[in-house]
Amino acid sequence: MKVSVIGSGYVGTVTAACFAELGHSVVCIDIDPEKVDMINRGEPPIYEEGLKELLKKHAAKTLRATADYDDAISNTDISFICVGTPSDDEGNIELSIVRAASESLGTALAKKEGYHVVVVKSTVVPQTTVKVIVPIIENVSGKKAGVDFGAAMNPEFLREGKAVYDFMHPDKIVVGAVDQRSDDAVSALYAGLDREITHTDPSTAEMIKYVNNSFLATKISFSNEIGNICKQLGIDTYQVMEAVGKDFRISPYFLNSGAGFGGSCFPKDVKALIGKAREQGYEPILLESVVKINEAQPLLMIDLLESRLGELSGLTISVLGLAFKNDTDDIRESRSIPVIRTLLDKGAIVAAYDPMAADNMRRLFDGDSIRYCDSAAQALEGANGCLVMTEWDEFRSLCSEFTKMERPLVIDGRNVVHCDDIEYVGLCW
Ligand code: NAD
Repeated sequence: MKVSVIGSGYVGTVTAACFAELGHSVVCIDIDPEKVDMINRGEPPIYEEGLKELLKKHAAKTLRATADYDDAISNTDISFICVGTPSDDEGNIELSIVRAASESLGTALAKKEGYHVVVVKSTVVPQTTVKVIVPIIENVSGKKAGVDFGAAMNPEFLREGKAVYDFMHPDKIVVGAVDQRSDDAVSALYAGLDREITHTDPSTAEMIKYVNNSFLATKISFSNEIGNICKQLGIDTYQVMEAVGKDFRISPYFLNSGAGFGGSCFPKDVKALIGKAREQGYEPILLESVVKINEAQPLLMIDLLESRLGELSGLTISVLGLAFKNDTDDIRESRSIPVIRTLLDKGAIVAAYDPMAADNMRRLFDGDSIRYCDSAAQALEGANGCLVMTEWDEFRSLCSEFTKMERPLVIDGRNVVHCDDIEYVGLCW
């Protein structure tokens, strides 16, 4: 099939490359000319394991990029909207990017003859596809959904860092279509994958995505709360959760306590669902607690640091890990952000290291506010304390490097450091 993918970020680029791998002909659309050029050169605009290889294989053959909606829409049969859906200041979903993309798509659709299917892959709160996106496209194009064009919601469940693998080996595919014709078109795209498809209406598909992320976020905040209680009682929360996770109704995953969840999805999606629930007049107290625990969790590391060092002003603190999790360069909502901000507010000098995410973090904290280092060893040299914020594999083997610190005090937020001869403090253990 001929597919266009609107937005070339984490989801859009992976979706485009994987559809090309599945044998489809793909056109990426992005308003950022740099991303368009990179994709056309076969270079991924973001880091994802395996993405470079796929782009290299398909770029300039069955995959290309453009900033021109008319070109992309007129030459394809189905379009996926994969643009960002950030939160506004109150945490509610902010749809201006989706609205703009829908308008551009509608404008191009007005000039196209023949049937076209529009698929929303961006994470949007229930009813957005039917009440916001479809009406914009209908208004701008002058065409009718279910008659002149098809519409569907097809949420994406990939994990950053493992996105290509997850796309090609999904544990579920959800297609929420307005009619059978749209459903058939979207479902056919996934025919090469060995996974049954859950067919729903668009709002149910939207809700499935939010419930999925909110449940995982709830598991993490629950585990962090239990970890905080265990810490007070001198009980090893990891041993507790290992046993608890053997209950098949619970499963062993997402029970590791630590500095909390970040990333582009969990924090904003839980907040967006809270906002949608409040809009209906319902106060979602469990989800509100999930967010509250997550916001407090990284700052407990500063409390632990101060309980050992006292005033932080003038002290050098090394922060190991800037990405919101390992194997990605993504820093969105990383738990290291509030930690660095608090350290700076308290007058500490921050020496930071991350194997991939330093360049992205520079956009938030420039080189004048914190010192970016080329290795963990460099960040640790002469430091008065260290905070481990991301579970990068290379941090697991750190040991002699800590002895180069002024004081080898390590507050571990991810349970990755295993080294004797240091002053080790686990966040919840
Ligand atoms: P992103 O910010 O990395 O990428 C969005 C892209 O859209 C950017 O390249 C931007 O230049 C482009 N863009 C913006 N406006 C545009 C327009 N009008 N026309 C064309 N392109 C435009 O976002 P992302 O992380 O890929 O997330 C996209 C959506 O997928 C969000 O709704 C997110 O919640 C959801 N999602 C993300 C993940 C993830 O792990 N990142 C997983 C599942 C779902």
